[in-house]
Amino acid sequence: MSVETQVPATQAATGKQAEASMRKRVFSGIQPTGNIHLGNYLGAIRNWVATQEEFENIFCIVDLHAITLPIDPKELHFNSRKLAALYLACGLDPKYCNFFIQSHVRQHAEASWILECFTPMGWLNRMTQFKTKAGEHPDTVDTGLYCYPVLMACDILLYQTHLVPVGDDQRQHIEFTRDLAQRFNSRYQEEVFTIPEAKIGEAGARVMALDDPTAKMSKSAPDPNSRINLLDDPKTIKKKIARATTDSLRLVTFDPARPGITNLLTIYQALTGQSQAEIEAEFAGKGYGDFKGVLTEHLVETLTPIQQRYNELINDLPTLESILKQGADNVRPTAEATLQHMKNVVGLG
Ligand code: ATP
Ligand code: MG
Repeated sequence: MSVETQVPATQAATGKQAEASMRKRVFSGIQPTGNIHLGNYLGAIRNWVATQEEFENIFCIVDLHAITLPIDPKELHFNSRKLAALYLACGLDPKYCNFFIQSHVRQHAEASWILECFTPMGWLNRMTQFKTKAGEHPDTVDTGLYCYPVLMACDILLYQTHLVPVGDDQRQHIEFTRDLAQRFNSRYQEEVFTIPEAKIGEAGARVMALDDPTAKMSKSAPDPNSRINLLDDPKTIKKKIARATTDSLRLVTFDPARPGITNLLTIYQALTGQSQAEIEAEFAGKGYGDFKGVLTEHLVETLTPIQQRYNELINDLPTLESILKQGADNVRPTAEATLQHMKNVVGLG
């Protein structure tokens, strides 16, 4: 995989490059906080891959976000490389996408301070992710976790992003980003930021935890049985699906009143692309055991090729490092231009 093939985020408007600069810009990211799971894949990465040729893409590894909760330094450093390898293994192609580590582009942290000074506390107090995470980690709630949405807004706004493909849990943060961008633009009567739009898929936009189908699947949930990791081997997948929470009705049907089986069916739907009616017909008269067996087969079939590519990539750290460096070098000028514009209108410098 050649590093030279990465597309610069901002390009001189000539020939093919002009065509690239006409495309809408996509930005998204994942925190290198732990094992990337099926929710991250179905809700985010898979959708990025599907439309990569259509857009100008920037995919970030948001390590500054990852330190909003305690994390071992060595683990954080390795997780960032692991995540880059997974992006590539899932099919993101440096020919269409820039990948970089957030802390390698300093403009994110600087812009975040400026925008924090324009963020009403009431807006942050309403953020449901903060409330959930603060509730889960009551002894380690620092200011960074509280200000997380402002840094996320900067990640998006620094690149004049049009579209932000994310899972359903990020809907509120994107609304917040839009509000903050509009507030800043109107305060200075200037279009400093493009107003971005969320792009949320259908099946797979909110994969629920296997042990508690009322909570979303998360990297940071303490029980590893709550999620299918992209790097889980077939035996582990089988075991996790077998013990996933269902109910005593034993009817393989979509039913919001039975969130456990509905979650597994939704995963099945996202993997196969079948309609709800087709899936219910396929399993009519069959029990949960039969369904879970077939679901496991689909999961293994989807994840095995990703794991094979991942194993090759993670053993070539120098190539990963150069892809990440090239990505950061490509996107930095855009981030710097937006930051300078912010500083100019505010009167800094
Ligand atoms: P953490 O627990 O550390 O917050 P996370 O699993 O929520 O980890 P993030 O890095 O916060 O993962 O999110 C990365 C992307 O994955 C986002 O676009 C988010 O919307 C999406 N995502 C996260 N969890 C799910 C889920 N359960 N279902 C669908 N999409 C998800
Ligand atoms: Mg999250």
